Amino acid sequence: AIPLVAQIATSLGAKNGVLVRSRAALEEARLTDVVLFDKTGTLTEGRQGVVEVAAADDVSETRVLRLAAAVEADAEHPIAAAIVTSARERGLDVESAEGFETQRGRGVSGVVGGEHVVVGSPRVIAERGLRAPDAMAAAAENAQSAGNTVVFVITGEKSAERVIGMIAVADVIRAESKDAIAALRRRGVRVAMLTGDAKPVADAVAAQLGIDEVIAEVLPEQKASAVSALQRDGSRVMMVGDGVNDAPALAQADVGVAIGAGTDVAIESAGIVLASSDPRGVPMTVALSAHTYRKMT
Ligand code: ADP
Ligand code: MG
Repeated sequence: AIPLVAQIATSLGAKNGVLVRSRAALEEARLTDVVLFDKTGTLTEGRQGVVEVAAADDVSETRVLRLAAAVEADAEHPIAAAIVTSARERGLDVESAEGFETQRGRGVSGVVGGEHVVVGSPRVIAERGLRAPDAMAAAAENAQSAGNTVVFVITGEKSAERVIGMIAVADVIRAESKDAIAALRRRGVRVAMLTGDAKPVADAVAAQLGIDEVIAEVLPEQKASAVSALQRDGSRVMMVGDGVNDAPALAQADVGVAIGAGTDVAIESAGIVLASSDPRGVPMTVALSAHTYRKMT
């Protein structure tokens, strides 16, 4: 009788945008102790837009945006798209940088008009021993506590690098995220957020969603280890993500759930796909699993 019930559950799920790629994932879902949600593109829509540009005293905001856009022109990250779009909207010509390089989870670099430019996370300026001017650092702090992601623009050769600008990008929290988290809580499932973004940004978004457990500033290659650390503590982990960076974590989790609007790699690493990108599909998966397999031990 179980396979038939599972078939019914599978088609019921499909009607609600929950696609079961692996029967084992559906069966395991009811045993979930903790759900780890990726932030960007999963709990948020992943359509970032530039909301603020700050520049050092002797530099124009236009120059900050123009240099950043040139380096981001060939990058794939949603932050890159936001910066390039914003530059074009301000009527700037976006040239392409030479020697473009990506440091995954950190930022990008390249040469623009003979000048070396880096656009990267707060971690990047710390790692290079740099500091933003006080006013810019304060602006960055404010942006982060509002839940906005911050990147810095650095110019100059190794010995003479300086932070010339800050760009804040905002994303929209999915309307359904809060309900999804509350529904999991009601089932007694622990909920946590996993992100490469800075801790203050992650904390601000988590507070808006009622999540009190935040694992932030995680580099792409560390996301799967964050999952296995929870598993070592004896937890069954469900990971929900959208991006290339999340694929190893989705594969490591007891149940991987990919957001349908995400990348093919994410989808291939997941047992469950949320076709409509609605995070409420997560508590629905747990409930479907519990109903389908409740007679089993
Ligand atoms: P997420 O967990 O949100 O997917 P990522 O690992 O992709 O985060 O990125 C972590 C951080 O690295 C970003 O918040 C940003 O500060 C920085 N970063 C990543 N890619 C870029 C880029 N193309 N340009 C500037 N900064 C970037
Ligand atoms: Mg992501």
